[in-house]
Amino acid sequence: MQQHSPIPETMKAWVLANPGELRLVDKPVPRPGPAEVLVRIGATAVCGTDLEVISHGEPALIQGGLPFNRNFTPGHEYMGTVAGLGPGVDEFELGARIAVEIHAGCGRCERCREGMYTACLNYGMNYGEHDKGHRANGFTTDGGFAEYAVNHVNTLVRVPAGMSDEEATLIVTAGTALYGIDALGGLIAGQSIVVTGPGPIGLMSVGVARALGADPVILIGTRQDRRRLDIGRQLGANEILTVGEEDVIAAVQRITGGKGVHYVQECSGAPGALDDAARMVSRGGRICLAAFPKGPVLVDVARLVRNNIYVFGIRGEGRSATRRAAALMAQKRFPAHLVHTHSFPLEQVPAAIRYAGERIEDAIKIVVKMQVERNKPCQGRPS
Ligand SMILES: [Zn+2]
Ligand SMILES: [Zn+2]
Repeated sequence: MQQHSPIPETMKAWVLANPGELRLVDKPVPRPGPAEVLVRIGATAVCGTDLEVISHGEPALIQGGLPFNRNFTPGHEYMGTVAGLGPGVDEFELGARIAVEIHAGCGRCERCREGMYTACLNYGMNYGEHDKGHRANGFTTDGGFAEYAVNHVNTLVRVPAGMSDEEATLIVTAGTALYGIDALGGLIAGQSIVVTGPGPIGLMSVGVARALGADPVILIGTRQDRRRLDIGRQLGANEILTVGEEDVIAAVQRITGGKGVHYVQECSGAPGALDDAARMVSRGGRICLAAFPKGPVLVDVARLVRNNIYVFGIRGEGRSATRRAAALMAQKRFPAHLVHTHSFPLEQVPAAIRYAGERIEDAIKIVVKMQVERNKPCQGRPS
């Protein structure tokens, strides 16, 4: 491995023990193989999917099973600097500031060859006899709640100059938003979109859609989402609709002159969200599902069929959408940093998880920052 400065033998890393239980341990610093780099992690954002993994295991899959008590480090939305180069790596140089995509597919299955590496057919096949080389850090391989991680060069995205570590962790979130818009067939300037659910992916969807010229961009949330909806307006939503205060379906129909929108990007995971989306989208319109409902949902399928409505599901951030989203952020097309609300040091990952899960202090995006000045309070940083 090529490196500038000495790399320690061991590092601090959080590992998942029993469901809901994280432990801070010393682990060997991993070594990058061919086409891989060692990343010294700068900041790791907490995602809703981390909460799922930590409490229920799925969609993480370690050695073909649930991720509990397997010395597995979660965390998948991180950024840092390249601290070591595996054999043959010349795409990045030591010291490069990078953000990461989550999924390095196997590179050899049909989906990977199509650029759909987040839907790799060899998902989780990276051990023993099943080693197809698949990696999804924080899901099937070690992730970012640690001082170091190993990443395939294909997953690295250069952080634009002048961007903070915290904002850089949102590059992959914006990549997911853009991948959803890709699934919808790509947005054409002047087309209308509804984004349901103002969580980080929903808010990034607003920013990306606006940057691509969508008009109008309609963001829908609940009364509890007030702060998020305000940020959505700053990210470019022209219309904000609040469930429980008005009939949001009627409002979308009114805004679009009774036709409905071209697209709905569903980021709430609410049980009625798909059925509602089918009533907001125009005939021949398209719906992208980017959030998981907690269980099966009821949908009026006949409405979808009668109205020629297309429905797409996405997982993650394929087809290099993350690099394209980073370009929009480098051009400062939307103020992504507003979505980051709190920072915690590495030692306080459980508190960071609790803030995210319980939305304490109206938390939106929580970032675990490796180099925090120890004597200064780092919580509640207003962006
Ligand atoms: Zn995530
Ligand atoms: Zn694959």
